[in-house]
Amino acid sequence: MRIGIVGAGQLGQMLALAGIPLGLEFLFLDRSADTPAGRIAPVLTGEFGDAALLAQLVGRCDVLSFDWENISVPALRAAARTAARTAGRSARFRISPPLSALAASQDRWSEKRTFMRLGLATTRCAPVDSQAALARAVRRIGLPGMLKTRRLGYDGKGQRLLRSPDDLEQAWLQLGSVPLLYEEFVPFDYEVSIIGARARDGSIVVYPLNRNYHADGILRLTLSPWRAPALARAAGAALCRVLEAYRYVGVLAIEFFVRQGRLIANEMAPRVHNSGHWTIEGSVTSQFENHVRAIAGLPLGPTTARGHAAMINLIGTLPDASSLLTEPGLHLHCYGKEPRPGRKLGHCTLVETSAARRDARTARLLRRLAPKLGFHS
Ligand code: AMP
Repeated sequence: MRIGIVGAGQLGQMLALAGIPLGLEFLFLDRSADTPAGRIAPVLTGEFGDAALLAQLVGRCDVLSFDWENISVPALRAAARTAARTAGRSARFRISPPLSALAASQDRWSEKRTFMRLGLATTRCAPVDSQAALARAVRRIGLPGMLKTRRLGYDGKGQRLLRSPDDLEQAWLQLGSVPLLYEEFVPFDYEVSIIGARARDGSIVVYPLNRNYHADGILRLTLSPWRAPALARAAGAALCRVLEAYRYVGVLAIEFFVRQGRLIANEMAPRVHNSGHWTIEGSVTSQFENHVRAIAGLPLGPTTARGHAAMINLIGTLPDASSLLTEPGLHLHCYGKEPRPGRKLGHCTLVETSAARRDARTARLLRRLAPKLGFHS
């Protein structure tokens, strides 16, 4: 079976690394073959929305998936229809996860409405498409608040914190050329995420809860399992509701703010997620393998943690591998990307026998790798 993946970044690379031992083949589509997944599998090169390339990808693969969410849903739909017609295949060519979930995740307002419709607590928010609508949203929701682009925002890009009425005009000038969302600022205690997978037969597996630490809007550190049993149960139940609502196939992640012991859904990702990278060494079955298993129609594997994991993102520059690898049991993953400020170039994972040991080693490592994070065990 050949799996086609739109996007050949590090997520695609780790999907292929998980799927090749299962006997699966991979074919990617990306703007360049000089990408992380391009090091291990062939890449069709061109624009993500290129109809001919998408049709070729669909025609040469048995199932289609994606490793990032900013790709054209109508282009994917059209390619699947055309390829099914020309190849005389079943009209039910599979794209997994479902495009309905992809479409919802691409637009922050649709995403919030999905959360509300399914009964997940989320931030109070309003769509904004004019300066007058922004003023109305601020009057209704209050200050401080976050003004965000509805589309194409990630890692804190395309957002402004509004503290006072004086900030509105400047933020509107900076962001107002595209549809926006205004939402209440949540003075959260910390951030968590939950990741799980649903198979074609409807079975679901959920990983332990992740505690996430960001700096400058970018994930720096994940600790998992995060021992907060009530929150883990609530997050797992919320995830299952979304998985079932979409008759989802594949891995889904939801990020939450935690405030006074309650979860507030922030966003979802219809794909494998950075906060789940620890599962490669820290779980019986990694998120990458479970995504591949789900979309290939295979049974899902157990998500039990093998210990207490810490995953540290390597951002902007890669530390010297020989010095990092003197840490016993440290697993290093380099994505083969050119160094650039703010760019995720790799990650490393430690799995320890207790949370206390993990946290002490993580604090020591972070003093070297990300001193700005100020993490203390
Ligand atoms: P996002 O792109 O929505 O995940 O936002 C990136 C980061 O900005 C989040 O991980 C939070 O740390 C912060 N952030 C986003 N929205 C809010 C909010 N409504 N209140 C407080 N902090 C926020």
